[in-house]
Amino acid sequence: MSLIKRLRRHLGWKLFLSYLIVILVGMVVLASAAEFVMPGAFERHLAAMAALMDNASQELEQDLFLNFRLALNESLILSALAAFLVAVAVSLFVSRRIVTPVREMMATSQRIAEGHYHERVNVPDELAWDEMDELGRLAVSFNQMAAQLERTEATRRELIGNVAHELRTPLTTIKGSMEGLIDGVLPPDAATFQQVYREADRLQRLVTDLQELSRIEAGAFQLNPHPVPVLRLVEAAVARLGCQFQEKDVELETDVPAGLPPVQVDEDRIGQVLLNLVGNALQYTPQGGQVRVNARQHESEVHISVTDTGIGVAAEHVPFLFTRFYRVDKSRSRAGGGSGIGLTIAKHMVEAHGGRIQAESAGPGKGSTFTFTLPIAT
Ligand code: ADP
Repeated sequence: MSLIKRLRRHLGWKLFLSYLIVILVGMVVLASAAEFVMPGAFERHLAAMAALMDNASQELEQDLFLNFRLALNESLILSALAAFLVAVAVSLFVSRRIVTPVREMMATSQRIAEGHYHERVNVPDELAWDEMDELGRLAVSFNQMAAQLERTEATRRELIGNVAHELRTPLTTIKGSMEGLIDGVLPPDAATFQQVYREADRLQRLVTDLQELSRIEAGAFQLNPHPVPVLRLVEAAVARLGCQFQEKDVELETDVPAGLPPVQVDEDRIGQVLLNLVGNALQYTPQGGQVRVNARQHESEVHISVTDTGIGVAAEHVPFLFTRFYRVDKSRSRAGGGSGIGLTIAKHMVEAHGGRIQAESAGPGKGSTFTFTLPIAT
């Protein structure tokens, strides 16, 4: 590799070279002054001295001049040597301070790129952000980026694990039923086909939910907000689920005051959120129970609550209800076709409208209330 190429690739060498160039320029200026300016000045001074000293001979004058030149050259060479050594020392020191952290960051980023997401660069703990130089701040930002990457990677792994797990159950059931049919163990009757159909349906819902979740989490969706009367949203949910409430013998009550102002929302998306909450309330409320949908204005927002007298949620589970794939009772939720994604999607949607969603429950068996807020149309 040519010297120039090697110099180009090493920050330490570049720093050293720049110090050397500064010193060389200094030396050239000094040498030119010594060569062109100083002899004239010295000669003039000598001539003035000779005029004063009567017995000063021509030889003495020349000898003095020669010795002056020699002394000057000697000191120039010595100082050049000293300056060179200083340049080496300073550039070694500076490059250790600059090049070493840069190299460390380079090596760490390579290790991260190879999949070692826990790697971090060293940052002196004792320094606060505004006491650090640019390299220190770069190291802190680098570590933040690495931590974010590590979190994203952990989420990705967890997601793949969850999806695989969710797919396995319906697939196992479908495969088992088909094997039973092929072997003649299961009768080819409506009940068997119904079971296969239910599992296929669940798979389809899971895939649709996953697609929706990934679109929402990537922010790849567009809202089309416009003023919507709250009553219309509630009536749409009742129209969709009313029959199922009757079938299960769960009472569905709505309480939407007539004077409530319209909300500024994407009707389809928020309709889906309400449908999800009312659907959950139905799913987790046993026969003979009640579900109540209630809307009230609070300043510039409308709060919509879905309250049920169902199975409720223990306090320790409440904070996790909006986490994807989180289900309090996996077998019960799965039996109802739940994927544990519905509330996550609902939370994203409500927040995309500038609202909040929360869950409350007095405990197992004591029912639950899910409330979300929406902005009033202005
Ligand atoms: P799923 O599709 O499993 O219902 P969700 O995201 O809609 O998924 O809900 C997540 C979990 O929250 C459910 O599995 C259930 O354990 C709990 N949950 C949701 N709504 C209710 C409710 N009304 N009453 C009791 N538990 C509920």
